[in-house]
Amino acid sequence: MNMHLVTGTNNLNQSLKTTPTIPSANFVSEEESDENDLIESEEIERILRIDYNLYESKEESRKREEVLGKLNDIIKKFIYKVAIKNNIPEDIARNTGGKIFTFGSYRLGVHGPGADIDVLCVAPRHVDRNEDFFGELVNILKNEREVTEICDVKDAYVPVIKMKYCGIQIDLLFARLSLKTIDENLESLQDDTILKNCDKESILSLNGCRVTDQILSLVPNVGNFRLSLRAIKLWAKKRGLYSNVMGYLGGVSWAILVAKICQMFPNLKPNKLIRKFFEIYSQWDWNNQPISLNEIKRETGFSCPIPVWPDDSAKSCMSIITPAFPAMNSTYNVSETTKRILLKEFEFFKQFTNMIKQNSSSLCLWKEFFNEIDFFSYYSCYLQIDVLSTNEEDFKKWQGFVESRLRFLIKFLEEVVQIKVHPYPRDFSLNDNKFEFDSTYFFGIEFNDPKSLNDLPYSYLANLNKSKDSILLINLRDVIIKFCHKINEPIKSQNSHQVINIRNPTTMNVRIQAKPNYKLPMEILNRDKKKLIINNNDHREIEVNGYEDIETNFYVKKRKI
Ligand code: ATP
Ligand code: MG
Repeated sequence: MNMHLVTGTNNLNQSLKTTPTIPSANFVSEEESDENDLIESEEIERILRIDYNLYESKEESRKREEVLGKLNDIIKKFIYKVAIKNNIPEDIARNTGGKIFTFGSYRLGVHGPGADIDVLCVAPRHVDRNEDFFGELVNILKNEREVTEICDVKDAYVPVIKMKYCGIQIDLLFARLSLKTIDENLESLQDDTILKNCDKESILSLNGCRVTDQILSLVPNVGNFRLSLRAIKLWAKKRGLYSNVMGYLGGVSWAILVAKICQMFPNLKPNKLIRKFFEIYSQWDWNNQPISLNEIKRETGFSCPIPVWPDDSAKSCMSIITPAFPAMNSTYNVSETTKRILLKEFEFFKQFTNMIKQNSSSLCLWKEFFNEIDFFSYYSCYLQIDVLSTNEEDFKKWQGFVESRLRFLIKFLEEVVQIKVHPYPRDFSLNDNKFEFDSTYFFGIEFNDPKSLNDLPYSYLANLNKSKDSILLINLRDVIIKFCHKINEPIKSQNSHQVINIRNPTTMNVRIQAKPNYKLPMEILNRDKKKLIINNNDHREIEVNGYEDIETNFYVKKRKI
């Protein structure tokens, strides 16, 4: 099966194309699955279980439950301690409660071995976020033998303690309810009144659990949903489409998309649900029709510090709305670039998955559906972005920060009319010569047809069509400089409203280079033993120009691609 589809040259048999109509948002189909669908779905599960080892063993699940049990005990002791500190009488302090809830992929039941667990600590009103959760609790956790790699991320949009407990990655969020005690029997956080008088961070933190539980309650068949979601998540990871921060989609958005298909086709098995996924979303009216699983609730009878979607700041070109109050758009980072790539992939895999159905001797098999994208053979030119640091601590901070800013680079590159970029949401460690800690990202560069640009008043198009040797110089200098300014800019801390400078210029750096594919680092070229297509008749050049402050100097200047 030729998978070189991202560049647009698809050689799938056109006659196999289906022509589905686009259903409306509330469409429910009566289409049924048959015996063959059951067999095909079992085959998909077998691939996920055996070939990709995506299901954890009984022993691993037991270990996770044990870890969660211990964490729950720690939280209870911590809340008791805070109560005593606040002069709450001993007998009352003993009963103030406090509880943990899981959410995210673990709670959805679609996590694999080694996946992280998203956990929410729900506390009564006498527990303070900064002083107690990020103070006392972090100290308690630091003294636990089983806890390693603990760090607090107080300034995030949703503040979190990150740590490993017995080697399992845990993201611990905090919500303070306006209650004196947390009832031991509190099983669900679905009741909206629980949000009353909560601060913004608590509502955002509660939202994770509330969204996960809503999704599970809104799908008609949880088993079919889980298998389809596992398959789609693996596919998205393999195709380089799984990343909230880069402007592709994150776990919750994929879950909502799959849940929507389950709602539309309640009688179909996972093999068919996966096909419908591509059929529907490749043709969805994304500009006008958001994806949502239920009617959006606007009022609860009390004031909420978080606006219900759509509010002014929530514009997005591919809206996927979370199902719990207050409804939010989970795809805020999606750009025109990442939307274009997502839609191209949806279109290709609509055809691919239909081919699996129609011909059992076809080269399109479910096994191949999960093949990794051959990203470095798609393009003749790449933008290489090295994130560099001299020490580990700065590197962690810098890497996360620059990664979160790459979506601005993507936006700035959208202004360059001669090219389209394809960001790859994976980083590589290439052992930089000058910096001990490094991480590298790649964007593929696709050249637009110059004929379509003829009317544009760009001086660098002047030489175009003059002679065979004329050169089209595409200068990315301004874009790169704009991006460098962006990552040098001080940022406002989310919660303390202080202005912080992330970059220390002596220890943190970025280097950006444009490279023809055959000049990619050896680690990349050797990785998959690439067969590169070098086109010597292509007279286009990319220029990334000097920005002395940050290291983006003339690594490529007037280089022929
Ligand atoms: P993964 O398997 O990648 O961990 P996940 O479903 O656990 O997938 P996370 O990215 O870990 O997803 O997020 C955990 C939870 O946090 C989600 O289930 C969701 O409730 C909330 N969340 C994360 N990102 C967003 C977002 N962009 N908008 C709204 N809620 C979000
Ligand atoms: Mg998660």
